[in-house]
Formats: sequence, structure tokens, C-alpha cells
Amino acid sequence: MPDALCPSNPGFLMRLSRYFLPVMKEAPAEAEIVSHKLMLRAGMIQQQSAGIYSWLPLGYAVLRKVEQIVREEMNAAGAIEILMPTIQSADLWRESGRYDAYGKEMLRIQDRHERDMLFGPTNEEMVTDIFRRHVRSYRQLPLNLYHIQWKFRDEIRPRFGVMRGREFLMKDAYSFDIDFEGAKRSYEAMFVAYLRAFRRMGLTAIPMQAETGPIGGDLSHEFQILAPTGESAVYYDAAFEEVDFASPDLDVEELKRFYAAADEKHDAAACTVPPERLRTGRGVEVGHIFYFGTKYSVPLKGVVTGPDGAEVPVHMGSYGIGVSRLVGALIEAFHDDQGIVWPESVAPFKVGIVNLRPEDEATNGVAETIYEALQKAGVDVLLDDRNERPGVKFASMDLIGLPWQVTVGPRGAAAGLAELKSRRGGDKVEIGVDALIQRLT
Ligand code: ATP
Ligand code: MG
Ligand code: MG
Ligand code: MG
Repeated sequence: MPDALCPSNPGFLMRLSRYFLPVMKEAPAEAEIVSHKLMLRAGMIQQQSAGIYSWLPLGYAVLRKVEQIVREEMNAAGAIEILMPTIQSADLWRESGRYDAYGKEMLRIQDRHERDMLFGPTNEEMVTDIFRRHVRSYRQLPLNLYHIQWKFRDEIRPRFGVMRGREFLMKDAYSFDIDFEGAKRSYEAMFVAYLRAFRRMGLTAIPMQAETGPIGGDLSHEFQILAPTGESAVYYDAAFEEVDFASPDLDVEELKRFYAAADEKHDAAACTVPPERLRTGRGVEVGHIFYFGTKYSVPLKGVVTGPDGAEVPVHMGSYGIGVSRLVGALIEAFHDDQGIVWPESVAPFKVGIVNLRPEDEATNGVAETIYEALQKAGVDVLLDDRNERPGVKFASMDLIGLPWQVTVGPRGAAAGLAELKSRRGGDKVEIGVDALIQRLT
């Protein structure tokens, strides 16, 4: 199916004159970090309240691309997509004991009947409720259910745009197994799926030991992307710099043996990395995986009958990815002085065409030919057909960071030529229209 017909596509209007792209020359003063500034300047988001954003067409297109990569890697790892509501009943959380324990980050609401409700910050309780009502036997295991849904956490300090929002989009998966051995396999499948998903976005996320709370063990990892503006202090073995995260036979056990820890989890006394190999820096937590055993299955009665007929509580894990945070994290990783530099896999459009002279017949003809051919081939393409000065058009193209820029002007058009520029490398070539279309499809 060509992209233009695909529901995840930004839309049918991909002529800039008819699109909605409210770019700004300067970022509002409240934006502190480069990704937040660029998201506002490129017209990707608009703040509605502290930590709560509207996603405008360009931002929404990227959000959907990130979401789709995460979805595909979850499905490939055997997880099954569902959709749970954002609003939950407090009663479920009373059953697990977390209603009181969760504290001020939880947004508590009452309905018209004065029933206590809440805007879900996470879904362990609810997914266990789904499980306990339908799963009876160990033969139905292993099971991994996930959803991609908005969460609300009343963060004390929402900041950095979508990186620390109050309302944010998370993928959260939940695994159910009969015993620890099974749960460990489920955990490792997620571990690898996470590395794949981040890799597909062009990111290197380092898995780091994370707090496991009272359960202990080594089964909790945060995935951290290195960025100077990251909120976590990270410590890791330089050996990570040698790892080929794209390799199909990544050895999870080996990765887990390398030292990497964030914040308080780093223990200088216990750290076994020789000083010359210990790297320190800042990280952005883009994912977190967690094995927590029977913490929720016991109080919420998530039980199955085992092979011997006896009822046992299931062993569970939960696995989060910050889908909306990733959009900011990607820009932190991929930008230059002119603007965003999207990797192709998450770019809102793969190609941007600058028509330098929309009023000139030959120029217009060439630009339209390229635009239509690319669209037909299923390439996401944005055509700048506005009556603006070339400088303005080039600046907005660089700002929004599409991987390929095609410029059509009267001189080239007369000879059937256009200019192709790679946003990342900056190199430009003059190229015939047919060859250009072939290269981009
Ligand atoms: P943080 O340490 O940044 O507060 P967390 O450890 O509280 O995150 P988790 O409960 O592990 O978050 O949630 C899973 C993922 O959801 C995180 O790894 C992160 O990518 C994302 N996330 C958490 N809080 C936010 C937020 N306020 N805004 C955007 N994304 C978030
Ligand atoms: Mg938090
Ligand atoms: Mg954290
Ligand atoms: Mg976490």
C-alpha cells in the first residue's frame, strides 16, 4: 500500500501552501534545551499547560513513526497489542496497595458519583485484572500484552518539552510466566527488542543496571541515550563503545556483564571497571525493563493452575518505552546549527522539494513531476510550493530536517535537472529528473 493511503501518514495535504507548519524564527524563552527549542521552532508541538502538549502535524508524524517502530519490534518479539483506557478505578489500586503509596505524581479524579478514579501513570494493576479474568492454565503462558497509550504523571518539575511532560505517550508491555525461568526468557526477549527498536531509530541506547527495589537481583535495566542535557548521571564501561548493537546475534548475557549504571545505582566501591575504561556522562532514560515476580499477582490474584494442578501466582515483568520522550531525545542526538537532521526511519517526510519559482511553468512542471512520481512510489514527500524567497524556503527545509532536499529552479528545469542535497552530509549534486526519482524510490 502506498504511504499516501496509509493511516499513519501525515495526511493528504503535503503541499506546504496547504499544510499546517507554523515555523518560528526564534524559540520562546522558556525552552532551555536544543530539542525543545527546535520542536517549537519547527512547529511540531504547542504547549497547552505545564507539561501538556498538542502535537501539530509535523510532530505528530514523527510520533507516529517512532510508535510504529516500537510496535513492529514488540510484535516481532511475540508481544500482543491491546489498548487499555487512560482513566482507571482507584479500587484496583487499593487492591495492590499502591493507591496510597503512589503519592502526588498520581492525578486523582472523582466522577459525578464521587467514585475515586485516576489518570493512569502505568498499568500493572489493570493488565493483571485482564489476565486474572481470562487466563486459567499454565498452558496459556507465556503471555506478553502491551499497549501504546497516554499516561499522566504530575511531575514536580515538568521541563525540557516532551522529554519530561506530565501527559506523555508510553509503550508499556507486561509479561506473564509460570516461573522465574520463563520470566527471565520474557525479559531477555524484551531486552533484545529494545536494542533493535532504538537501533532502527539510529540511536545507541546503553542498557544500565537499575534499581530493583525489594526484589533484588539483576533483572532491571534502564536504556539510556547519551546526551549532554540528560537528567541521569551515567557510568559505563568503554567496552560498550565497541558493541555492534545492530548485530543479529547480540549476546544479552555478555552485555549484562559490562558495567553500566545510572545515578545512585553507581557504586564507586563496587565498580569493577578499570579507571581508564570507566566512562561518565549524562543520559536520557528512554526505556526501562523490570522483573518484579509476584508483586502484583499475589494481591490481585493473578493465578494459573500449574502442571500438577495446583494454583500458582504468575511471575510478571513490565517494560516501558517513552515514545513521546524519544521524539525529543532523537533531536538531541540529531541536529546541527541549522536545525533538525532526522534519520530516515523517523523522518516526518523522507524528501522535501523546494520549488524556487512556482510561477514559472517549466520549474513548476519539473517540481510537480518529481512530487507525483515520489508520491506514487509511496515516498513521504513535502513540496514547498509557497511564494516565498528562496532563503526562507531553504531555511525552513533545513530547520525541519528532512533527509533529502530536492531543489528545482528555472535554469536546471530547462535542462531537465534538479539539485539533490543530503541534509546530513550537506553534499549537493545536479541530477537528471529520472535518475533522481530512481535514487529516492
Ligand atoms: P524518569 O526517571 O525519567 O522519571 P521513570 O523511571 O519514572 O522515568 P518509568 O516508570 O520507568 O519512568 O517509565 C517508562 C518510560 O517512560 C521511561 O523510561 C521514560 O522513557 C518514559 N517516561 C517516564 N516519565 C516520563 C515523563 N514525565 N515524560 C516523558 N516520558 C516519560
Ligand atoms: Mg519518574
Ligand atoms: Mg527513572
Ligand atoms: Mg524508569
